[in-house]
Amino acid sequence: MKSDIIVIGGGASGLAAAVTAARKGAGVTILERMPRIGKKLLATGNGRCNYTNRFMDIGCYHSRNLAFVSHVLETFTWKDTEDFFSGLGILPKAKEGYVYPNSMQAASVLDALRFELERLGVNIVTDCHVTEIRPKRKGFQVLCKEKSFHCRRVILACGGKASEKLGSDGSGYELCRKLGLSIVPVVPALTGLKVKEKYYKALSGIRTEGSVTLYIDGKKTDCHTGELQLADYGISGIPVFQFSGQAAYGLLNHRKVTCELDFFPEWDIEKLTTFLNRRFKHFIGQSPEVFETGLLNRKLIHECMKLACQNEKRTFPDMSALAHILKHFPATVTESRGFDFAQVCAGGVDLSEIDPSTCESVKYPGLYITGELLDADGICGGYNLQWAWATGSVAGNHAGKEYYDTNRPN
Ligand SMILES: Cc1cc2nc3c(=O)[nH]c(=O)nc-3n(C[C@H](O)[C@H](O)[C@H](O)COP(=O)(O)OP(=O)(O)OC[C@H]3O[C@@H](n4cnc5c(N)ncnc54)[C@H](O)[C@@H]3O)c2cc1C
Repeated sequence: MKSDIIVIGGGASGLAAAVTAARKGAGVTILERMPRIGKKLLATGNGRCNYTNRFMDIGCYHSRNLAFVSHVLETFTWKDTEDFFSGLGILPKAKEGYVYPNSMQAASVLDALRFELERLGVNIVTDCHVTEIRPKRKGFQVLCKEKSFHCRRVILACGGKASEKLGSDGSGYELCRKLGLSIVPVVPALTGLKVKEKYYKALSGIRTEGSVTLYIDGKKTDCHTGELQLADYGISGIPVFQFSGQAAYGLLNHRKVTCELDFFPEWDIEKLTTFLNRRFKHFIGQSPEVFETGLLNRKLIHECMKLACQNEKRTFPDMSALAHILKHFPATVTESRGFDFAQVCAGGVDLSEIDPSTCESVKYPGLYITGELLDADGICGGYNLQWAWATGSVAGNHAGKEYYDTNRPN
């Protein structure tokens, strides 16, 4: 079967690329290994799809080549994303910069893309797992388990290997390796972290406001504030997600990775100690339970009191020791929670081998790589989808450019 352009992967970046290239008049075929396109999109933003963010800053991304990332995000901005989707009928709803469809349903975003693909006559082949891309004299041969396709250009949009059940199983990295492209080591990001301390089991299920600081080999590396989630395996929640990729790289490089949780980030240690001493005097002669009630989550303050007593058989700890624990609650990170629970992958195809103006491979003109497969990942808040739309549009625009005006549909 012959197409002008084959898009491998019907996820966010592949769908953006297919729409953009088809609007230029190119004949586009999407090959998707799952029975349906866009399965992951439906799961984004807890089913609401936080599809971009109006606060765009390079500090919200990680990559070995941030200049590349900036270039792409300046070429296709958050405003371009809003306009692209507004053109498909998606009314944006912004909440503190985070942009969702007004329907608050990820399904609307996928449906709008599907309707546009249909209007443009894009061919969609599902249950089609691509196993190899063979560069030919004029274009490429794309091999699936049972079929083979020929095309002038390929847009490789297979995603990473986060949340495999939603489609991306890491086969994109394999396809790139077979072509001799370099891959920056891939680790899970936007996920929880497993810790050594046994007492987290007793704290499982607790959600509390606070901040969490990451230390790599004892050096303060990052810090985020928000809702912390404690789990039987360790720590989670958006503040932990934000630096989980850095923590995973630390572990990969055999560094010591630790975190400290601060349950009173707005008070310094002196203010907290003074407060606790006053509280202790107020409840003098009463049980620890009375002292603990209402201070923090019941199980959490109880565990902090035990830790501050340092296993001595005391009912009350020294208040400065308690203040210390409340502001430096320890977590020794042993492992990331892994790819299955990660929202994205950090690392990927080395950006020095890709042209930032087109997302085209330097080694293989006509081969484009988009989205999470590339060495760039964003923090929570719509940044990863923005990267997917931006790279997909840049690639689709360039791959489809020579078809402009000749075959362009109305
Ligand atoms: C639970 C969850 C929630 C998220 N929420 C948000 C959010 O609200 N906002 C945000 O910005 N980001 C969010 N993300 C991240 C975001 O979804 C991804 O970064 C983005 O989808 C990546 O787009 P992509 O096109 O690179 O890859 P994907 O969307 O993963 O698409 C890749 C596609 O390629 C297909 N494929 C893979 N290999 C092959 C092959 N060999 N042959 C054929 N097809 C193949 C896959 O089945 C898949 O459909 C979330 C991620 C998860 C897991």
